[in-house]
Amino acid sequence: MPLTSPSRMVLRGIPVSPGIAIGPAYIVHPEHREVLKQLIAPEKVESESIRLRRALDRAQKEIEGIKNRVSSDIGEHESRIFDSHILILRDREILDTVFRDVRENLYSAEYAFYRQINLLAERFDAAAGGFLKDHMIDLRDVGTRVIDILTLSESTQIAVELEEPRVILARSLTPSELSQFNRRNTLGLCMETGSKTSHMAILARSLEIPAVSGLSWREIQIDPGQTLIVDGNDGVVVLNPTLRDIKEYGMKRAAHFAEEDSLANLRDLDAVTRDGKYVALEANIELPVEVESVSRYGAAGVGLYRSEFLFFTRDDMPTEEEQYEAYHYLASSLNPHPVTIRTLDAGGDKLVSSFKIAGDDNSYMGWRSIRVCLSNPDIFKIQLRAILRASAAGNVRLMFPMISNLQELREAKKITEEAREELRERGESFDPNLQIGCMIEVPSAVLLADELAREVDFFSLGTNDLTQFTLAVDRANERIADLYQPHSPAVLRQIQTVMNVARNHGIPVCVCGEMASDPYMAIVFIGMGMDELSMSPSKLPEMKQLTRFISYEDARECAREVLKLTSAGEIDRWLKNRFQEQLVKAGILKKG
Ligand code: PEP
Ligand code: MG
Repeated sequence: MPLTSPSRMVLRGIPVSPGIAIGPAYIVHPEHREVLKQLIAPEKVESESIRLRRALDRAQKEIEGIKNRVSSDIGEHESRIFDSHILILRDREILDTVFRDVRENLYSAEYAFYRQINLLAERFDAAAGGFLKDHMIDLRDVGTRVIDILTLSESTQIAVELEEPRVILARSLTPSELSQFNRRNTLGLCMETGSKTSHMAILARSLEIPAVSGLSWREIQIDPGQTLIVDGNDGVVVLNPTLRDIKEYGMKRAAHFAEEDSLANLRDLDAVTRDGKYVALEANIELPVEVESVSRYGAAGVGLYRSEFLFFTRDDMPTEEEQYEAYHYLASSLNPHPVTIRTLDAGGDKLVSSFKIAGDDNSYMGWRSIRVCLSNPDIFKIQLRAILRASAAGNVRLMFPMISNLQELREAKKITEEAREELRERGESFDPNLQIGCMIEVPSAVLLADELAREVDFFSLGTNDLTQFTLAVDRANERIADLYQPHSPAVLRQIQTVMNVARNHGIPVCVCGEMASDPYMAIVFIGMGMDELSMSPSKLPEMKQLTRFISYEDARECAREVLKLTSAGEIDRWLKNRFQEQLVKAGILKKG
């Protein structure tokens, strides 16, 4: 049921990728999707019923989340329309028929649900009266949601070739789905779900696509082609903007570009504090094409290359040769700057269709990342051989994700040694001094840092995961975004512990989680003595400006003070009191 007629409307969500986009809407998940009849094998009845039950539960959670948002953004009264959505999901008659169709007619979950919704909708359509018509719209809405959940989680193929520039509206997008859009014509993103540290958001920032998530846009009448403004700085979306809106946001966009240009002169300067402490400011990248922005923004190298993106958008594994080409391209284009290649970190919200991780329960903590690689050593070795061969250029560093115990690290290194041996036999060259490091992103790795440090050349702090695992807060869930506090003392103290251990062992530490590009946190990290900070390329100029503005002495004092505080709120306040005014004056932070 539309909440309003398609006149000007302002929606508020979570700003997940900065910048301003103005353009026509492209709706990824159309309201009415067709589901073809599909039969399942009799032995699949139980798993299919479980899959259906989970999809219904998830749909209910999503609707409750939207209801809460509409209630606070628009009003309690308007939010009540979602009660009828929930009632449909719980309707015994509908559910009994759908589950029976799966059990007795062997229909796939999506077909059984689609069929039932259609039969009911046809009945309502034929009936007279406004009430039933409204009910039909609710039915279709719920049907689309459940079918989206059932189908889109199974397949990563939405392959969209945008022929003209468009603002994309989607319920949710996985990073692999987003990487299938053609970048040039993707102006901006409006998403119902997804938080700042979801990989969709990280990729949007890397690709410099303005994005807002946490928007209940599907409850509003939006037609394809309708004009939208996406303000990824403030998390605002304007539907059917007035000419005045377009002018105002056009000016904001021009100011944003002008600011970027004014920072361009920092490109060739070193990131050195006023009192001479050098910090390597590096880039996090997801795609080899980002080499261009690594250079444009003057990165001191690549602190994190998320190699899993090579595995997206295809059903099979990239071959050793295909992987080698990508890694070699990065290493040779950026030489002599270091390029840190992280081995496959699939799972969580990064689904790779060639590994069937999608159905794995609790996938952030499930069979993912290094665990998948260690249980598929032959596949792992293909990647390792490709990285080793690329290392012949001399500037590659190898990094293992999600190490949670010493055994995993040893096993990964052993398989690397086997890959080296195979290359020797083939007569291929590689860097004999290749640096090997591991990510510290699981609390157990922090506690074992002393042992791990004896066996690696560097550490890289994955604060996105470290935060979610420390605080038990799903990083991709926008509903609990306020509980996701990377600047919690529980996280900062672990970071300090890792830093102390690394110092004792004389190995460098990088922070490559999203925290590294938060100006306040960057001061704390510099004060802790961090060697490298790695972030989305477009964040580098601002961070370089910051590094050149502060003194190491002040940053050290700041780190000492902050580590004494006992809550994220206190830390926030302390940092703002101490630095906000000067950073605003220096143009590094905006007011507010
Ligand atoms: C992290 O967890 O902080 C990290 C950098 O890795 P990713 O975001 O890819 O999980
Ligand atoms: Mg991680």
